[in-house]
Amino acid sequence: MPALRMTKPSAANDQTRAREAVLTLSHELGREDRRLAILGEGNTSARVSATTFVVKASGSNLASLSRADVTECRFAELLALLEQDLMTDAAIDQTLFAVRVDADARKPSVEAIFHAYLLTLPGVNFIGHTHPVAINQVLCSKHARTFAKRRLFPDEVVCCGVESVFVPYLDPGLKLAQGIRRAVVAYIKRISRPPRVILLENHGIIALGATLESVLAATKMTVKAAEIFVGAAAISGQPRFLSAAQIVRIAGRPDEHYRQKALGL
Ligand SMILES: [Zn+2]
Repeated sequence: MPALRMTKPSAANDQTRAREAVLTLSHELGREDRRLAILGEGNTSARVSATTFVVKASGSNLASLSRADVTECRFAELLALLEQDLMTDAAIDQTLFAVRVDADARKPSVEAIFHAYLLTLPGVNFIGHTHPVAINQVLCSKHARTFAKRRLFPDEVVCCGVESVFVPYLDPGLKLAQGIRRAVVAYIKRISRPPRVILLENHGIIALGATLESVLAATKMTVKAAEIFVGAAAISGQPRFLSAAQIVRIAGRPDEHYRQKALGL
């Protein structure tokens, strides 16, 4: 018989820990010298429990995010939104206010809808979404899909996965969240792994992971890959990519069990 778990953290502790982690991640991603996001761009989130998560409030700034700019939300109503076809902006706005745990908290970002979905994937505890200059110069070009699908060097495979999820341009908000879910489901069916990076055409990057360090690493490594992609394309027309065999050798075997768990099979 196991002893009583005296160290079980309280719900309040989980919330505080997640909020502090979101602040750290936001300040790292918002650093001006990294050129990942300016003004109100980008958003971050962390899972608190099976029922709630914390997310950056609408219109706040990553670099200077404060505790009051982080809002705790319930998953259930946001996940239900994903099943809706026709919703007015006003109705979506109303839901964003309704999902707050604390009625005095600021309105969460409209991108909280995709955060809610991605935080339900097994092993995903943190999300960072930014609009980096280096990545968007590729995502705003005809090479966006190729950049998402191919890999250029070993550390890109390690930090960003065997490929990134690619999402063609969609209106930010509910339509984008639904498009992200479609693309992620197809990715997991095919690749049997969680995505580490989702690339949004003409928009930006979403990095997801078990720790805030892995989210930061995936973001920084995708920036580096984008810079290399642009440089290699500039001097040779077409970058030389790693082969499928080389990628598999670095990444190892796909986890079939993950696929079943993530897709609820
Ligand atoms: Zn965005």
